[in-house]
Amino acid sequence: MTTPTIVLKPSSNPRSAAERGAILADPGYGRHFTDHMVQIRWTEGRGWHDAELVPYAPLSIDPATMTLHYAQTIFEGLKAYKQPDGTVATFRPDANAERFRASARRMAMPELPADLFVAACDALVEHDRAWVPDTDGSALYLRPFMFATEVGLGVRPSNEFLFMVIAFPAAAYFAGGVKPVSVWLSEDYVRAVKGGTGSAKTGGNYAASLAAQAQAAGHGCDQVVWLDAVERRWVEEMGAMNLYFVYGAEGERRRILTPELTGTLLPGVTRDSLLTLARDLGYVVEEGRISTEDWQRDVAAGTLTEVFACGTAAVVTPVGSVKSAKASWVHGDGGPGEVTMRLRKALVEVQTGRAADPHGWMHRLG
Ligand SMILES: *Cc1c(COP(=O)(O)O)cnc(C)c1O
Repeated sequence: MTTPTIVLKPSSNPRSAAERGAILADPGYGRHFTDHMVQIRWTEGRGWHDAELVPYAPLSIDPATMTLHYAQTIFEGLKAYKQPDGTVATFRPDANAERFRASARRMAMPELPADLFVAACDALVEHDRAWVPDTDGSALYLRPFMFATEVGLGVRPSNEFLFMVIAFPAAAYFAGGVKPVSVWLSEDYVRAVKGGTGSAKTGGNYAASLAAQAQAAGHGCDQVVWLDAVERRWVEEMGAMNLYFVYGAEGERRRILTPELTGTLLPGVTRDSLLTLARDLGYVVEEGRISTEDWQRDVAAGTLTEVFACGTAAVVTPVGSVKSAKASWVHGDGGPGEVTMRLRKALVEVQTGRAADPHGWMHRLG
């Protein structure tokens, strides 16, 4: 089966520069979508076909479409950034393409070839490049996703799927500066178990997280921290972001630890990029494990000095304070840590083209 090329059928009435300008002045997050979308169909026996870029529009689907009932669906998230020379570049789209294939395998879905995934993202960014914001900290967020489109309620893998890419302009996640978050250690709910779907980017993981997030909010916390499902003590992730722990005080050699990928964590592209960037900056970097008792004890002892979360949406976010049913504690003075902010800056400078890109992470679109 051959890889299809994307047929371009752009909109004959895209929004005016004035309408776009009004949206870009206050884009919010995931509220206003660009003028186009890409869609590619997959059918058993035929493979990928009917790849096209079309005007953004609602879908009409049968009520018995499998996805609506059995959640055979996966997604990705990546960003396109305006570069100083006026061009646009996406950050590591090949890494998202590979993770999308891994998610597809776990969910018994067809694997979209990585070059087609990247070509679909490129086509959308090229046609909607006027939607890439250029204010500080903003970017065009791309949402590739795929879902089962077969109609029928028998439980088995669908024999047809729709892959799509849509995009929205995203303001800086935290307007007015980087604000540390407070976290709730979830001991009632778990996100993932070994053998489950924790390492796949699939909608069901998110649906299952909402009650825990509501519980965290009920305890006055911004985000939930997930612990391992067996012993309920090994730290895994925060909401939909990976976590990093920074040891050592200012002036000392810093050591940075992130929970290892045990199969229950989502392997973040940001997490992976920071492993490399932190080494480049001379930090001792480790993938390992940390328990909630270690976390509390090492903060009290002053050896664990900063904690931060990372992901495409919010880049790097300091964790200011922690609460559980039994205890609560604060990191340093509760403000953003020095290492946290240094790593954040280093990553953002690569993404926005203000620093060199020695690892070839930026995919330039001209
Ligand atoms: C997407 C996601 C992340 C972050 O991944 P990035 O590739 O860095 O954006 C972390 N945890 C979960 C559960 C996620 O879904």
